[in-house]
Amino acid sequence: MKVLVINSGSSSIKYQLLDMQTRAVLASGIVERIGEPLGALTHKKAPGTDAEARKTIEQPIADHKQGMNLLVGLLTDPELGAVADMGEIYAVGHRVLQGGETLYMPLAVDDAVKDAIRANIPIGPLHNPANLAGIEVAQELMPGVPQVAVFDTEFHQTMPAQAFIYPLPYEMYERHRIRRYGFHGTSHKFIAKETARLLGRVPEELNLIIAHLGNGCSLSAVKAGRCVDTSMGLTPLAGVMMGTRCGDIDPAIIPFIAEQTGMDVVQIDAMLNKQSGLKGICGMNDMRDIHAARAKGDERAQLAFEMFTYRIRKYVGAYFAALGRVDAVVFTAGIGENDPDVRAGVLQGLESLGIVLDPAANAGRAGEWMRIAAPQSRVDVLVVRTNEELEIARTTVEVLRKG
Ligand code: ADP
Repeated sequence: MKVLVINSGSSSIKYQLLDMQTRAVLASGIVERIGEPLGALTHKKAPGTDAEARKTIEQPIADHKQGMNLLVGLLTDPELGAVADMGEIYAVGHRVLQGGETLYMPLAVDDAVKDAIRANIPIGPLHNPANLAGIEVAQELMPGVPQVAVFDTEFHQTMPAQAFIYPLPYEMYERHRIRRYGFHGTSHKFIAKETARLLGRVPEELNLIIAHLGNGCSLSAVKAGRCVDTSMGLTPLAGVMMGTRCGDIDPAIIPFIAEQTGMDVVQIDAMLNKQSGLKGICGMNDMRDIHAARAKGDERAQLAFEMFTYRIRKYVGAYFAALGRVDAVVFTAGIGENDPDVRAGVLQGLESLGIVLDPAANAGRAGEWMRIAAPQSRVDVLVVRTNEELEIARTTVEVLRKG
């Protein structure tokens, strides 16, 4: 059984074709720079295996439809392709950012689901239109193949009101649905389940602090398997400092910048999302470049690193308070899985909370997972590889089986 997972962004489409029996990735790729003068599609067959084959296409890609047409062409390409025709695909699972307060459980796509995604564009202005385009083009190109929407907010819907309501006039929530939704839900959910499995426990027994640190970064506090708080908010701009996003700042900074510079809200929003975070401080947003610059004595790169880890450490402390008892801190995603310096920086000085890292274990490379806590650490510390695509594919199959 083959399931195609689509993560359609404003100017990109990431995709992965999975074999559900073996969990193998049959093909994966990314269409980038849709709508720009020169777009690109990078397609990999069976990534990480000896049989790896790669193909890159560079050409203008006008819209999502053209991008999807190109990827369908490569998936069915006799030399590269993983399927003879798209009818072999059992279903398509779509990552959808935002379905608001009523739509968060995964669902087979019908017109009502599409209308609801459309109706939530005001609270997901960058992602929801792209998610919808991905669904509509997939329906057109793969008629008869079921499509399932999997929402990035689902896992966080268990938060209590004290965690998700903002201290604004209550009508802002009632009328405009302004509240904390949280994102990266598929990853946090996968990690909560996977951590329990790896520890030989059930999720309902475990209290976890999960740090998903990739291009976007978010933490969640998970009590007995359920999310009780998360760092992202109405949008994925909130919380810790990220590659190009500022995370939490004094909200009065926004009108202040407008007054001082004459920038309008659209410009300020773009600056907070794309020119801030690590990049805003040192000009670089890839942690590997930042380490190289730190090693050469670059003070701004050092400051960016210290700010990044300090801001995450403060969330770890806050989530200790939210949870009361913590069984494990779990690191995941690009930085969380691969960067021992960030992990050590985040957890430094937390011995009084019962967290002690084992430096040698932390310096190791995680396969699917590894334990990096010292034997005397009261709280376990793990690195667990996330797999959002597998989680979306599994969910897609479950939704369709339940019918
Ligand atoms: P996304 O949020 O787009 O899914 P990923 O989870 O793949 O992103 O994370 C991408 C980020 O991970 C990159 O920006 C880079 O900073 C970081 N990263 C990847 N590999 C390493 C590494 N070996 N060391 C440090 N950081 C890394």
